[in-house]
Amino acid sequence: MHVHLVAAMEFEKVLLKEMERAGVELVVLLTMDLNPSVLRKEEVRSKLIQRYKKTRAYEVDPTRWNEEEFMRYLENFFHSFRPPPTHQYLASFVESFPKLAVGIGSVNPLKPTEYVEEKLREIAKLGLKGVKVLPTLQLFDPATNQNFELICEFCERNKLLLICHTGCDPGPFELPELSQDANPERLVPVLERYSVNIVLAHLGSYSVHNPRIWLTEALEILKRFENAYADTSAVNYALFYREDVVERIRRLGLFEKLLFGSDFPYIRKSNIAYEVRGVRESRYLTEEEKEAVLRGNALKLLRKIGAV
Ligand SMILES: [Zn+2]
Repeated sequence: MHVHLVAAMEFEKVLLKEMERAGVELVVLLTMDLNPSVLRKEEVRSKLIQRYKKTRAYEVDPTRWNEEEFMRYLENFFHSFRPPPTHQYLASFVESFPKLAVGIGSVNPLKPTEYVEEKLREIAKLGLKGVKVLPTLQLFDPATNQNFELICEFCERNKLLLICHTGCDPGPFELPELSQDANPERLVPVLERYSVNIVLAHLGSYSVHNPRIWLTEALEILKRFENAYADTSAVNYALFYREDVVERIRRLGLFEKLLFGSDFPYIRKSNIAYEVRGVRESRYLTEEEKEAVLRGNALKLLRKIGAV
């Protein structure tokens, strides 16, 4: 699970080589619908500024940014991203490797409803198998956003996988205050109404400064909702190299819900092979648990939605 498709000529070669090296049979490839223009919406701007002012960085740092500087920093952060590939590009990439890749589209819930509906139709028409959303980089709150509810409904009806980023994110989103919409708790209201197959990316645990930041909240969701799963992208070492964490997951009976992920090629100094070792070489996992996380669980879920 969780490899980012990068629109670059050489990426195809890089990915195939990396898959072979890591012993990967199938990748779930993502794109992201990022629209930095939503930063200019007044409600988004005031939400971000309010949250920034609650951070420790703001409270104690005498050289802290004022509102304008902070917003400029955010704008620059968003503009530093290479534009992610379109759904058409992703679909044709996947078509050229039908046995090796499954494609997942993306929709930004902050865009107008007509746009969201059009993008969802496009995803279904192109044969993509799911929708990725990011409460951090897409700046929406899953608990209150109406379009997010529409996305859940669409995914449930069309047997598409919903993949939702959980945990912190790089840059400004390392500040937990700014990432609070990606606390898995925010998903509870929609999960009480829809039984969509959802994957909590990073198991709520991604954070450089506070590893496993919302692990407890994520595990609660996996326990409570039958159709909720999680991928281990970017957090394999944070989870499987801690005996207490492994035991906790085991005690809750949640090993059948964890799907190996890597976040390739986004994490610096990491790659798929390195992340695979994070599972395979863990001293605390049993052989059965390793096999379930690395292969069996994902296969079962992808079969359930008819993706393989
Ligand atoms: Zn990612």
